[in-house]
Amino acid sequence: MADAPRAPSPAPLIDPFQRAISYLRISVTDRCDLRCAYCMSENMQFLPKRDLLTLEELDRLCGVFIARGVRKLRITGGEPLVRRDIMHLFRRLSRHLDSGALEELTLTTNGTQLARYANELASFGVRRINVSLDTLDPQKFRAITRRGDLPVVLDGIAAARAAGMKVKINAVALRDVNADEIPDMIAWAHGLGMDMTLIEVMPLGEIEADRTDQFLPLSVARQRLESRYTLTPLPDRTGGPARYVRVEETGGKLGFITPLTHNFCESCNRVRLTCTGQLYLCLGQEDSADLRAVLRASPDDAVLAAAVVEAITRKPKGHDFIIERQRPAAVPRHMSVTGG
Ligand code: SAM
Ligand code: SF4
Repeated sequence: MADAPRAPSPAPLIDPFQRAISYLRISVTDRCDLRCAYCMSENMQFLPKRDLLTLEELDRLCGVFIARGVRKLRITGGEPLVRRDIMHLFRRLSRHLDSGALEELTLTTNGTQLARYANELASFGVRRINVSLDTLDPQKFRAITRRGDLPVVLDGIAAARAAGMKVKINAVALRDVNADEIPDMIAWAHGLGMDMTLIEVMPLGEIEADRTDQFLPLSVARQRLESRYTLTPLPDRTGGPARYVRVEETGGKLGFITPLTHNFCESCNRVRLTCTGQLYLCLGQEDSADLRAVLRASPDDAVLAAAVVEAITRKPKGHDFIIERQRPAAVPRHMSVTGG
């Protein structure tokens, strides 16, 4: 008997600049248990919980993206691990890993809840996570995060490693705060077999401080590092804004994320979904699509997929960040809304 004809797979998501969209970042909450000074203001107004997509809605939306060729999901926030029942979402999404439709399910976290969740995350197929950590000095950590306890995060990192996950450390380079510490942090991370990435401060959302006072260009940080380390450029490209080097003395990998330059937009493969179902086509642009309205108006995934396809046709060529002495911030929404 002849095989029944297979339904054709839906077309992949290709934007007007011929970039295939294979990577979705999902902010599952705008809330956080920390208040990093470069990210949030002390008195953040968080969204009412009713505005958030439910975990079931998030799962449905992810399914639509995966059916259209998204191969990598990153769960972020806010702090994703403070969202109630978040393991439910990881459990649901892991079926796409099992089927092979999804290549990778990852997480960006501040690490405060990792000791509790590391084993479950690993059991749901999470193999790599990014932990954001800007200093190894407990007092500085408290000052940057306005409330965090460094040992809790270090325990979380240990738990993740013990559960078999590969941990990458992300540190925002802050001019007068951690610049001097960066070489030692690299030695620490690489000594434990963890890659590290440095991030430039981005002008996202109103905060108390002036970001020009926090901004340390990574070109400067890199120059300083070269007085201690030999940095050999690596060809790795992830479709994102990171460039990588091998630190010869430690054998570890170091990334530089410089979003204020345009040198990565041409290979951008990602879009971002907020916890309220807004799809942002670019971290640095305001244009978005309200997928929550579509999702709640119709139970038909084909309608939702059509809205996603339409949104992708609006993905801009590149961003438009400027850090200069100006207020308000260049992009009014905080990183915790769009997801880092
Ligand atoms: N709470 C989680 C965490 O801290 O990893 C996930 C969300 S956080 C918004 C994601 C990343 O964005 C973190 O590495 C954080 O340091 C970074 N970030 C936040 N605000 C930023 C800004 N204005 N400029 C550059 N990086 C920022
Ligand atoms: Fe929270 Fe992450 Fe923003 Fe820090 S960077 S305040 S941990 S969301």
